[in-house]
Amino acid sequence: MPIQILPARLANQIAAGEVVERPASVVKELVENSLDAGATRIDIDIEKGGSRLIRIRDNGKGIPKDELALALSRHATSKITTLDDLEAIVSLGFRGEALASISSVSRLTLTSRTQAQEEAWSAYAEGRDMDVQLKPAAHPVGTTLEVLDLFFNTPARRKFLRTEKTEFNHIDELIKRIALSRFDVAITLRHNGKIIRQYRTAQTPIQKERRLATACGSGFLQHALVVELAHGDLKLSGWVCSSQGARAQNDIQYCYVNGRMMKDKLINHAIRQAYESSLRSDQYAAYVLYIDVDPHQVDVNVHPAKHEVRFHQARLVHDFIYQALQSALQQGALEEEQHQYQ
Ligand code: ADP
Ligand code: MG
Repeated sequence: MPIQILPARLANQIAAGEVVERPASVVKELVENSLDAGATRIDIDIEKGGSRLIRIRDNGKGIPKDELALALSRHATSKITTLDDLEAIVSLGFRGEALASISSVSRLTLTSRTQAQEEAWSAYAEGRDMDVQLKPAAHPVGTTLEVLDLFFNTPARRKFLRTEKTEFNHIDELIKRIALSRFDVAITLRHNGKIIRQYRTAQTPIQKERRLATACGSGFLQHALVVELAHGDLKLSGWVCSSQGARAQNDIQYCYVNGRMMKDKLINHAIRQAYESSLRSDQYAAYVLYIDVDPHQVDVNVHPAKHEVRFHQARLVHDFIYQALQSALQQGALEEEQHQYQ
């Protein structure tokens, strides 16, 4: 075969292989887009674990009519334009790949209206050439993404989907993580028409604790110690469980770097070390932690799913987290002891 450029749809489907593993990965990309668009309210409707329908509606800034088709093209993004931007990412997305990938493996409708527009427009993409058709629609300012029949045209992928319940659990878990990262955004999650979780906007400490309990359960809240510490540009805040609140599973271990969910080895190591003497080997720490650092001091462009970061001053970050947690835990242990003697 001579060398040839791949047709757009096939190129997108290959990219989709990396980004779109299952319904929850679609939900992640779409909700992150809503957050990047400044939404304060996101409604998520799922049917049949996401394999039948994923619908995300937001009240963000919307997409202008003449950019709707572009939004669905590969490497089309409004979030970065230069290498400098890439080195100081503040948005969740930047690859310009999600919508193109998702639309190549589903029946996708994008409906949006900006403040400046009198009416909303809908873009629909399906078919070999990825031609996009625009139609007028009814929609308030904001965007709705509707993804029908995920993997309908990639049977090998579709076969890998688990049961409806398992796929929905992945989505629920993902939304939990997002809800813990953005207390200022109201999120509703429905499955087959039923409200499963409702995260209301949380500003006061009590509202925040309510959201924490909705996401992590009241058991976690009961043993949670508040962490709050700053060192120069570096800031650590959130909740850690006291050693009495240790769990039999590692189900509540959430860490955010500049608002982005992370599973990072360096951070995990620092946390484990802080708990070292106080947990048995069959016990797990539980935490919801937020690390904020100058965006120039971290590189998030390490992993396609963006779960890892690279800190320029890794040692400093490690020791800062370790020390902050160790003192929170010691303080917590002291308070629990005093409580027992009262
Ligand atoms: P990326 O998020 O990496 O830029 P995507 O393919 O996810 O790439 O989205 C492409 C573009 O479409 C975004 O840069 C953004 O301009 C626009 N977009 C996508 N979803 C939304 C949304 N919910 N609200 C407003 N704009 C959006
Ligand atoms: Mg995106």
